Amino acid sequence: MRARRLVPHEGFTGTYDESAIVVFGVPFDGTVSNRPGTRFGPDGIRAELDGLETYSPALDVDLADHALCDLGDLELAFGHAGRVLTHIRLACDQLLADGKRPVALGGEHLISLPLIEAQHARHPDLCVVHLDAHADLREDYLGEPLSHATVMRRVAERIGGDSLFQFGIRSGTKEEFRFGRAHTRFHPFSLETLSGELDALGSRPVYLSVDLDVLDPSVLPGTGTPEPGGIGFHELIESLHRIARCQVVGADLVELAPSWDASGASNAVAAKALRELVAGMLKFGR
Ligand code: MN
Ligand code: MN
Repeated sequence: MRARRLVPHEGFTGTYDESAIVVFGVPFDGTVSNRPGTRFGPDGIRAELDGLETYSPALDVDLADHALCDLGDLELAFGHAGRVLTHIRLACDQLLADGKRPVALGGEHLISLPLIEAQHARHPDLCVVHLDAHADLREDYLGEPLSHATVMRRVAERIGGDSLFQFGIRSGTKEEFRFGRAHTRFHPFSLETLSGELDALGSRPVYLSVDLDVLDPSVLPGTGTPEPGGIGFHELIESLHRIARCQVVGADLVELAPSWDASGASNAVAAKALRELVAGMLKFGR
């Protein structure tokens, strides 16, 4: 994998070979429909990680006690979405061939599609757990089938709607909501039903895709398409810990756009979510 640059952090100092969980940035925002800037998401998270303790008191896990590696950002051909998606897919294929559990930092939500395709090629019974304010179930967006507004429709086509679990959705077109209610495991407005759904998954492999705008904009305003009425921070973290008890084969955190939050607090929210997700994967990993 070619990395644009690497920003070392004391929680992510392992070598590639010794690290089962590898983090990398995918700084792509080529299809965003509203406010751009998610390409700066990975560096926003890394900058905040420098001031964040490596220890998770909630889980009693210290990232510094484990081999974890940050590969830096993928170097992407901006302006050519198809080439970008191919590049992401090839990078993820390599990580999976090396036995890694990849955790990607977006970037916009379309980057999840090649990551999920790579996982599905290895795990035919893959489930996707999708946390988002938006359904992302459009057939196309202004004629374009590959967009952050269509990504979960494409995922449903690849893995089957019965294997796509969507939570927190509070925005979309009437058609998207009809499609979700008819074809995916669709849980709008909250994450209250998450635990029950996960209980039924057993040992099936799970890919987790977190669009950070699932959080209320009062918690995370630094995103391109803020959507009022979202969940709080504790609810997200508890959900990440619960999901980490599944067989998580990979994950992403997407749609952080640091420049829309002058306070920088959104970066801190995203960085802490990353720490708690990785700590959960370390503690409960199987
Ligand atoms: Mn969203
Ligand atoms: Mn999304």
